[in-house]
Amino acid sequence: MKVAIAGRANVGKSTLFNRLVGKRLAIVDDTPGVTRDRREAPARLQDLTFDLVDTAGFEGADDGTLEARMWSQMARALDEADVYLFVVDARAGVTPLDETLAADVRRRGKPVVLVANKAEGRLGDLASMEAYSLGLGDPVAISAEHGEGTSDLRDALAEAFERVPPVAEEDESPAIDLARPIQVAFVGRPNVGKSTLVNRIVGEDRMLTGPEAGLTRDSIAVEFTIDEQRFKLVDTAGLRRRAKVTDTLERLSTGDTIRALKYAEVVVVVLDATQPFEKQDLQIIDLIVREGRAVVIALNKWDLVEEPDPTIRAAREAATRLVPQAAGVRVVPVSAKSGRNVDKLMATVTEAVTRWSARISTGRLNRWLEGAVARHPPPAVGGRRIKIRYVTQAKTRPPTFVAFCSRPEALPPAYQRYLINSIREKFDLPGVPIRLNLRKPD
Ligand code: GDP
Ligand code: GDP
Repeated sequence: MKVAIAGRANVGKSTLFNRLVGKRLAIVDDTPGVTRDRREAPARLQDLTFDLVDTAGFEGADDGTLEARMWSQMARALDEADVYLFVVDARAGVTPLDETLAADVRRRGKPVVLVANKAEGRLGDLASMEAYSLGLGDPVAISAEHGEGTSDLRDALAEAFERVPPVAEEDESPAIDLARPIQVAFVGRPNVGKSTLVNRIVGEDRMLTGPEAGLTRDSIAVEFTIDEQRFKLVDTAGLRRRAKVTDTLERLSTGDTIRALKYAEVVVVVLDATQPFEKQDLQIIDLIVREGRAVVIALNKWDLVEEPDPTIRAAREAATRLVPQAAGVRVVPVSAKSGRNVDKLMATVTEAVTRWSARISTGRLNRWLEGAVARHPPPAVGGRRIKIRYVTQAKTRPPTFVAFCSRPEALPPAYQRYLINSIREKFDLPGVPIRLNLRKPD
């Protein structure tokens, strides 16, 4: 459990930090803004143990880079913490800066303990009453300097810990591992140009790290590197033909797609730019998205297109309309014949895998949820409004979220789609198949 102490300068954050950590780690000074660096240490309050972060003191001036740096440090500390201790000075009363900071803390949607410090000998009673106006719940009156109010603080903190979502906040780790090749497959109807494209991509000028007899008896893979990114092409019709396996053009390519999907992380659907989005193309895309793979559309034979601008516009519009499950899927015009835009296609593949591997912290998700629900509240079903308490990411590749809500079975599909599209937009996940599971909080 990570607890961050927040509040404006000089309210006694460092004093409280020292008391809970039990060492004189922070420098205490009457000069505002003296406690500059963010410190983190294991802390204890009676039976509770946790990690404590002291955010930089901040006086609210916006006239220098030091303040800006402190703001960003504070924001980072707040991002990482599960619970906040928001400290005000009970003697000074609530200031406008307290209100600004409190609003920021409130928006983050994490459990907050409001602390009215410097309240020794009940001196701060009046001001701590005033602190109710911050909208952060009941203030706990303490004296960090004199060690008063410890038991109340302990109880409030224990209660806040109970409100922390059970799934740990995970790091938003760098999405892709450069050391591992991206597994990519090319699929599409017969004659759209898959094998020409594949041969172009792994052509002479690429560093071919060796065709290998594939992953299973009937699949074939080849590894290559572009701009230091390794790729592994798995089981494509193009490769198989290259390896002189007979390929009947009549065969339904869905069979290829299903096989390729077993191993691929990202699937490039090759369309013929002169006849894009035929029924079979859409079936293939739908299959890929339902399997939860990342998808990129290559609009091949671009050299045959006479009016590039309207054609690409129409294709992107069609993709948005026809593939709503992966709204915003990237459409890249290419020519396997001339090699035009092939590098761009592979860069887009890398980008698609990065997005597909995205990990979004519980904190960011819940800040998003607050706004999404406020803009468009969940419907009332059977006279009772459905409440969504919080959302967390359970899995990546594809991004899979769990929403804890009061009546999962009653949340209409249209509202679920709204949430998914809102996640896609907010966290910049165009073209990514996003999964949302609904659960009742335990
Ligand atoms: P920070 O800037 O929020 O980290 O505040 P500090 O911990 O540096 O404290 C600012 C000033 O308030 C210092 O002079 C502290 O000695 C004083 N102070 C901190 N806690 C208390 C308290 O409980 N009572 C009183 N009277 N003064 C306190
Ligand atoms: P596959 O069945 O999808 O593997 O398609 P092929 O790679 O065998 O290509 C089918 C036909 O389209 C061949 O005649 C290719 O030369 C042609 N073709 C492939 N890519 C392009 C391209 O970018 N431009 C043009 N004009 N023709 C292409």
